[in-house]
Amino acid sequence: AGTAPSNFISDIVRNDVAKGLHGGRVQTRFPPEPNGFLHIGHAKAIVVDFGTALDFGGSCMLRLDDTNPETEETSFVDSIIEDIRWLGYEPAEVRHASDYFEQLYAWAELLVSKGLAYVDEQSPEAISAGRGGYGKPGIESPYRDRPIEENLRIFRDMRAGQYSDGSRVLRAKIDMQHENMQLRDPIMYRIRNIEHHRTGDEWSIYPTYDWAHGQSDAIEGVTHSICTLEFESHRPLYDWFLQQLDLDRTPPKQIEFARLEFTHTVTSKRRLAKLVFDGVVDGWDDPRMPTIRGLRRRGYPAAAIRQFCREVGTTRTNSRKSIEELESYVRRELNATAQRRMAVLHPLRLVLDNWPTDEDGRPVVEYFEVANNPERPEDGTRQVAFTGELWIEADDFREVPPAKYFRLSPGREVRLRGAYFVTATDVVKDESGNVVEVRATYDPLSRGGNSPDGRKVKSTMHWVSARHAVDATVSLYDRLFTAEAPGERTGEALDDLNPNSREVLTGCRLEAALADAEPGEVVQFERLGYFAADLEHPMTFHRTVGLRDEWAAVQKR
Ligand code: ATP
Ligand code: MG
Ligand code: MG
Repeated sequence: AGTAPSNFISDIVRNDVAKGLHGGRVQTRFPPEPNGFLHIGHAKAIVVDFGTALDFGGSCMLRLDDTNPETEETSFVDSIIEDIRWLGYEPAEVRHASDYFEQLYAWAELLVSKGLAYVDEQSPEAISAGRGGYGKPGIESPYRDRPIEENLRIFRDMRAGQYSDGSRVLRAKIDMQHENMQLRDPIMYRIRNIEHHRTGDEWSIYPTYDWAHGQSDAIEGVTHSICTLEFESHRPLYDWFLQQLDLDRTPPKQIEFARLEFTHTVTSKRRLAKLVFDGVVDGWDDPRMPTIRGLRRRGYPAAAIRQFCREVGTTRTNSRKSIEELESYVRRELNATAQRRMAVLHPLRLVLDNWPTDEDGRPVVEYFEVANNPERPEDGTRQVAFTGELWIEADDFREVPPAKYFRLSPGREVRLRGAYFVTATDVVKDESGNVVEVRATYDPLSRGGNSPDGRKVKSTMHWVSARHAVDATVSLYDRLFTAEAPGERTGEALDDLNPNSREVLTGCRLEAALADAEPGEVVQFERLGYFAADLEHPMTFHRTVGLRDEWAAVQKR
């Protein structure tokens, strides 16, 4: 996974290693909540968490932060592991916060017995109101000074399932006037008489994120706990909890960085879930979704995502990256790796009237040897069939060419890529006057695509032999949201949905070799862009990105 460019995180880690903190060890973790599929924002966290560990010869674990039994499921766990692997990382171990429920509970009792935690019986509303606000004093709970023995007894009964949901919480006893709200007696446990996807009905109380996270880091021996900026204000609490535990080793250090957000999309599991449930997209793996599965199905190479996440920088300032920047990484990677093929998305028949027939009166078939990827000669060549009946792109012919239109029109000569020069002579129309066929002649001397007399043509077009073409369905995609910052106008991202984010083309005619495309393989359709073969459905392709940034504009012409 390479060496990360210097950034404030690697600088902190490098410095800690140099000082011999944690015995020079580096250990990180990626801690998703198993309540949805991973998205491009998570990819950034994965690259930072795994990448930092790898850069320093350390290890990174996957820890499923499964402290919220309502919303979590085992199925998400499997998809998370699969997506991390697809991105190119292997967790040193897979752990669950729920593995530590017993230890967390024991430590909570330790805090209670030190007089540092108490059971509060106020209503959730009263607790929230009592916390006050910035410049607004907190009000101490009437239960705050309960005797330790009583706290212990009730806390044990909470664990034993003797109370109803919401009737009691365990709170840390810190400072109700602290300027940082996080330290105004934060909640450590809530009563939830509910099944947990791993621990079943063993527990009636569940730890909060704040109580579970740092302690889980400590149990695993994490040295650097990297998270996003919204946890910055939690850091003093993270440190406070760890200080109370009398650990015999250096506690982990929390480091925050800015979330990765993109223009024209959303990266919030809640919003993405709404797109799925409202049927705006086909599912979590819809190629328009910024989920790892969506990007993968769309044809984004894992290497491009990794490289983007490394090079885009890791900062402490929230900002929205342009989606075009990510696309440029995808394009660069695919330009180097993708095979070139010819495909006609809007087919128009082109018939060469002077094309020869064999002794049985059938049109001759010629084969042209074409490079699979001019950027990579080692990818070799293939034979492409050519006959007197071809498909060309409807857009490559105009009966009445507008100014500066240099492609095919009556009387105009163009090059069929790698094959011959052809000159359009006539058209065939249907009853409504649409051109359904172009008649043309070819110049036999221009075989290979050049004329011996040095004649020049102004355009080169792709084509497929009608007899050899295979049929396919090809989906073109546009931005899922029209606004750069979805939701900025109205507060609701879904108000900025692009109603035309997908165009499905059926009856596309593809070069025969594309019948052999592997599921997930991304191919360059010459002149049209990069297209990914669907993972499940044969002869179904998704446009990954255009060949250039201006493709979207060209498409709308
Ligand atoms: P969401 O709001 O989408 O639910 P989350 O932060 O609640 O995101 P988690 O499953 O808790 O999702 O995330 C696991 C890790 O990924 C956390 O460390 C989190 O900070 C990080 N992460 C999530 N979204 C982003 C993002 N957009 N950019 C960078 N890191 C992210
Ligand atoms: Mg979270
Ligand atoms: Mg969340």
